[in-house]
Amino acid sequence: MTATLKFAVFGQPIAHSLSPRIHAMFAAQFGIALDYRAIVAGHDDFARVLDAFAREGGVGANVTLPLKQDAAALCSNVSARARRCGSVNTLIRDGASWRGDSTDGSGFLRDLAGHAFEPHGHRCLLLGAGGAARAVAFALADADVAHLAIANRTHERARALAAAIGVKAQAIGWSDLAAADPFDLVVHATAAGHGAAKFNAPTPIVGTQTLCYDLSYGRAAAPFLRWARAAGALRTADGLGMLIEQAADAFAIWHGRRPDTGPIHAALRHELAASLSGA
Ligand code: NAP
Repeated sequence: MTATLKFAVFGQPIAHSLSPRIHAMFAAQFGIALDYRAIVAGHDDFARVLDAFAREGGVGANVTLPLKQDAAALCSNVSARARRCGSVNTLIRDGASWRGDSTDGSGFLRDLAGHAFEPHGHRCLLLGAGGAARAVAFALADADVAHLAIANRTHERARALAAAIGVKAQAIGWSDLAAADPFDLVVHATAAGHGAAKFNAPTPIVGTQTLCYDLSYGRAAAPFLRWARAAGALRTADGLGMLIEQAADAFAIWHGRRPDTGPIHAALRHELAASLSGA
């Protein structure tokens, strides 16, 4: 009989995380016995809770808000892509320590491909400069975009991120967006949608063919996506696909096999639509 492998996702809040369901569905595709649970942890107790998980036999973990930087600091070794974004979302048990990786950027690019968007040579705008925005910014730079503009509430963070990316990137003030031409891709990577605030930005940044992509999904994505459609964008997407694709990349790191994400997209999209309509 094969031993059940122990995995978990850590964060706060974490009760509504879809990761345990997603990984259970992936594991079922390969007949892998998996115990993947959601464990609440914050800045103060993450190191202790993660240590207890390892002592109970935990071999891998995902990490979400607000712990991605804490996770990077706890690893004895991190991948190059995780180091440059300064955050870890995937932990791999390696002897008596943890190795860290970041699959947010690769998951984002895979989902963009699913929306028939190829970043190469395109003008892109990134709204936000936090951990997820950093992963997206480096992924877009790697995918050879022509130009990446970055706007953030705290302008200094946008400037620092643009400087880390290099010549293709430029920090832009939120109010200066009014003078910009429409971008090919606008990525909303701020956490503002979780606060139910109305999204607002100058509409010239969006044309009918602009893909407007929100990294969050469900109610948190609604303010930006509503704004984008009102601004004339015919192509919009939320971050549910990125969530599934980054999970599939983590699964492949742990198990050496990448699941078929198509059926998971369909199942979770259907459930999300039902929950939003109150069904
Ligand atoms: P983070 O590191 O805490 O960064 C938060 C970002 O949001 C910063 O740029 C911050 O600006 C900005 N922000 C926060 N509140 C704001 C407000 N009221 N108005 C304007 N800007 C505000 O968070 P994160 O990890 O990057 O996550 C960002 C979003 O991406 C979240 O919605 C998260 O759920 C989503 N996400 C999705 C996936 C996925 O797989 N789909 C993966 C990762 C993250 P300042 O710099 O000015 O504070």
